[in-house]
Amino acid sequence: MTQRITAPRGTHDTLPPDERLVALVEETAARLFARHGLREIRTPIFEATELFARGVGTETDMVAKEMYTFTDRGDRSLTLRPEGTAGVVRAYVEGRLDQALPQPARLWYGGPMFRYERPQKGRQRQFHQIGVEVLGSSSPAIDAEMIVLAHDLQQELLDAVCAWLRDCGVEVPAGLEPTPLEVRINSLGDAACRPVYREALQEWLRQGAGTYCADCLRRTESNPLRVLDCKVPACRTRNAGAPRLQPCASCQDHAAQVRALLEAADVRVVEDPALVRGLDYYSRTVFEMVPAGGGEAAQATVCAGGRYDGLVAELGGADTPAFGWALGLERTVQRLETLLADLSPQDRSRLRADRPVLFMGALEARALPEVFRLGVALRRLGFSVQWLPAAAKPDRILKAAVRADARQVLLVGSDELSSGRARLKDLATREQRDVNLVAAELGTCLKPAGTGLAS
Ligand code: ATP
Ligand code: MG
Repeated sequence: MTQRITAPRGTHDTLPPDERLVALVEETAARLFARHGLREIRTPIFEATELFARGVGTETDMVAKEMYTFTDRGDRSLTLRPEGTAGVVRAYVEGRLDQALPQPARLWYGGPMFRYERPQKGRQRQFHQIGVEVLGSSSPAIDAEMIVLAHDLQQELLDAVCAWLRDCGVEVPAGLEPTPLEVRINSLGDAACRPVYREALQEWLRQGAGTYCADCLRRTESNPLRVLDCKVPACRTRNAGAPRLQPCASCQDHAAQVRALLEAADVRVVEDPALVRGLDYYSRTVFEMVPAGGGEAAQATVCAGGRYDGLVAELGGADTPAFGWALGLERTVQRLETLLADLSPQDRSRLRADRPVLFMGALEARALPEVFRLGVALRRLGFSVQWLPAAAKPDRILKAAVRADARQVLLVGSDELSSGRARLKDLATREQRDVNLVAAELGTCLKPAGTGLAS
């Protein structure tokens, strides 16, 4: 036997019914983004390696050991993007979006990201992010608006999944909800206050260096703030006692305004002075959304981001303050799956993408072309129609119609072919009506497709 080829380690296939959860997340996010005036931006999956080295920082795990880098046939070093912000900033500068779009530029993106990580639950080598970037404003109101957006998106997602389940005729089990998320927030300071802190932290780290992992020992010298983001349990414990950044007056003022605005929006946040982000480009506000109480798991963060006032200039653009976040799609879907966890196999099989208004079957092989033709014509009229692509007994066709959760069913045999009429049966009410086998006429007897509403 030939050896089976399996998916590369750290990748996964999205299969039904999860494909619908993924689409729900994407649709719900896009709907919410539009309310904030965010426009979609699509950037290449691979970029010059230099972009990430410079943008994300060579001392980050992401650049130091997680990148998929290759040399192409033209001897260029390219990298599969490990994150979205650097590419968006590059496109902003290169496309002169500071001129082309009203400022601040409000953008969102979605798509696959690649990091060579040890695969485990919530951690893949190819995963997907949906993210927002607002470029050209230093206002704390932007920080607050985008954090509110990230927060509200979670509620909208739960609502969307519940609506989908109801739509499929599935009862949402009471009390079955993912652990609520908590917004953790911190300030990383700016060019005025961070250097002072950096030195104080470095001093503290050097004194206790013996108990740190090799990475932390190196980072202590090259980028001490990164030590605070180490995932090694012993390092995390030790880091709990590290000195905290004392933000300068203007950073404190910024943070206070963000807090006040979030409070005005009823978004509860937890101040977490230990929160640093994995990438180098952040300044001032950083935040993460983690399951309340369970925030210690190393891969529990669902959404994370912050302000990156220096990055655009770092990548060759004008001085442009900016704010952004990214949501992990797989971790989000995993949370939403909680709502499906206890469903019976029958209920699970009802979870479909679209409910066909009509299911058709041919009772004899010679009726098949007519069924095929009607199907094509009805779909061209906008109806969602499914069929059995082989002649079958009435029982089998009905069973298949029920399985597809169709509203109505139409059986065509030789009698129907010769009379040009057939009986359209409503699967819920069992009502039957005589219809002409003419698509335009049949269409008037069908409920419009795509409303997705259960009858
Ligand atoms: P972590 O601390 O979990 O490694 P990170 O700080 O590297 O996360 P970001 O770069 O901020 O993560 O990415 C934003 C979000 O993308 C994360 O909160 C997470 O939901 C998701 N994410 C990051 N890396 C992975 C991965 N390897 N597999 C799946 N999702 C991921
Ligand atoms: Mg990471």
